[in-house]
Amino acid sequence: MTDLRHRMKALADQVRLHRHRYYVLDQPLISDAEYDALERELRDLEAAHPGLADPNSPTLRVGAPPVEAFEKRRHALPMLSLDNAYSEAELRDWEAKWRRLAPEAEPRYAAELKVDGLSLSLIYRDRRLVEAITRGDGETGELVTENARTIADVPLVLPAEAPDRLEVRGEVFLSRKRWEELNRQRDVKGEPRFANPRNAASGTLKLLDSREVAARALSFLPWQTLWHEGPGEDQVRAMARLGTWGFGVMPAHGEGDLEAVLAFIARQAEARLRLPFDTDGVVLKLLDPGLQQRLGATDRVPRWAIAFKFPATQVTTTVLGITWQVGRSGKLTPVAELEAVEVAGSTVRRATLHNADELARLGLRVGHRVFIEKGGEVIPKVVALVPGEETRDLPTPVIPEVCPECSGEVGKTEDGEVAIRCLNPECPAKLAARLQHFGGRAALDIEGMGEALAEQLVASGRIEQPWEVFGLLQEPLRALAFLSGLERMAEKSAQNLLEALEAARTKPLSRWIHALGIPMVGARTAELLAEAYPSLEALWAADENRLQAVEEVGPKVAAALRAFVAVHPELPGRLAGWGVHPEPPAPRDLAALPLSGEVVVVTGTLPSLSREEAETLLKRLGAKVTGSISPRTSILLAGEKAGSKLAKAEALGIPVRDEAWLRAFEG
Ligand code: AMP
Ligand code: ZN
Repeated sequence: MTDLRHRMKALADQVRLHRHRYYVLDQPLISDAEYDALERELRDLEAAHPGLADPNSPTLRVGAPPVEAFEKRRHALPMLSLDNAYSEAELRDWEAKWRRLAPEAEPRYAAELKVDGLSLSLIYRDRRLVEAITRGDGETGELVTENARTIADVPLVLPAEAPDRLEVRGEVFLSRKRWEELNRQRDVKGEPRFANPRNAASGTLKLLDSREVAARALSFLPWQTLWHEGPGEDQVRAMARLGTWGFGVMPAHGEGDLEAVLAFIARQAEARLRLPFDTDGVVLKLLDPGLQQRLGATDRVPRWAIAFKFPATQVTTTVLGITWQVGRSGKLTPVAELEAVEVAGSTVRRATLHNADELARLGLRVGHRVFIEKGGEVIPKVVALVPGEETRDLPTPVIPEVCPECSGEVGKTEDGEVAIRCLNPECPAKLAARLQHFGGRAALDIEGMGEALAEQLVASGRIEQPWEVFGLLQEPLRALAFLSGLERMAEKSAQNLLEALEAARTKPLSRWIHALGIPMVGARTAELLAEAYPSLEALWAADENRLQAVEEVGPKVAAALRAFVAVHPELPGRLAGWGVHPEPPAPRDLAALPLSGEVVVVTGTLPSLSREEAETLLKRLGAKVTGSISPRTSILLAGEKAGSKLAKAEALGIPVRDEAWLRAFEG
């Protein structure tokens, strides 16, 4: 007999250990099959020897076979709701109200976090968990005992000092981390996401198969004890005692008069956001249990407690439309047009959907009811569909094929980027951003050309291209009148701006090239181009192949530059007409570079450098890089699988070098 008892105890310990490794630490030590064998042996022994079964056995935590439906149970005392307050004034009103009923009583409170989950009543008889009942309609709930047993923070057995009859009420919830994990699993399985941890906890507690509940790892925090005999301890002491009996304790609580509670609320407004689970308020409870009993309850809420609610950050509303906004970089962002709704103290009519992928992931359609959330960021976002909405027959939203601003082509630019962009570099939606770049520090550095001015210039409709601001210099008096008429532009700053423009006319050519916003031409490339071409006119006249002889200019950059020139052939002339004469850089002694005069062809796969990197390096060393072997080729840089070019070079007697040779120049 004792052997059997030992064996069962050892099995129970092992099952507990492995469940912890698996569900909590996510570091299993044994295979699922080995675990199942241990658990099965324990279950079989428990079934064969019910007298020996430990009421705290871990088999009770892993869930029992599914049930058809939950039984209904009446609550001994109704599970009420809580009155709400949304401001300090409402709390003071509530205090004044109960004090009229008990003028002599001392106003001392317990303040607890309001956990955003579902309430659950746990019934203990002779210190054993016998029933767990959901709130239901407050009078009658559902019997979910098997599910509750799987919750690690629900003690199945209480110590000897606990009373024979005890009811503990508290909140069942899911941590944000578990909720996110759960949603990831559901994404994989193609199942709809849970909008928030609360929904996930609620769905979980009502699963008919408690083994599934066990895997979801719910949590429980108590917020009330019902002793069913005598008034019991005050709220703070009662919760502390539950802690010593194996229940969890709230991560923060307060105690004192209303001023102390208000200070607690102020601290929690921020602190609660760092907790691993959601909270939506602070519950104030009169500390004295005798006073609680005297005040009693209305048919809906107790008079001795009230919930101070933090402004809601998540609400539901209906999607009235989906529009696409073109950002300053040309990025197209889908925006949900919403039925107006209050969130965290402001009215929300629009929410971002981030990008087309997100739209698809949400499965969002016009007409859907959705959860929206206003977090730390200013723009609210759509979190998920309200459950059940996904089955409605609504048309799939259309992803735009052309830019809503300019009807230009739309597509993805960088590899792997999910956003779609307007590919038209001249899109008016991009003009303000281009103008800011034009006058920005790295470009022409025009004092006073900030975001506000850029936006007003665009709105005025006076310019279609950034450089057209220099046209203002043609008629300085009219320009002054125009600029002074803009918002936050005194005549003095208008004057300063015109002077800054005048001075910018002879800024270095490299800054000018960079300022124009030619696709793929950054500051460094602009410098190299300015060294190779002494003026904008010369650059405009450069031929595409010759351009590629410039260091860091490959076929893509050369093509982008030529395309830009083709769209703006008149640009250098117009600028000259406005008195713009960029200053060319002092000539650099190109002949001093180690590979100047060499004409190099690159072929095959190099051990570590990509083709582009090798070409950049060669150009920086002064070499000219060309695409095919000719009698003028002086060096062939060859890697593996070098094919016909290698044969041709050898036939022509051209020296063949490898990457190591090139790298040696780097010192
Ligand atoms: P409400 O559902 O908004 O009326 O709020 C009442 C519910 O808040 C209760 O039924 C409990 O489920 C829940 N609750 C969460 N935390 C607490 C707490 N510390 N004290 C009392 N109720 C709480
Ligand atoms: Zn566009």
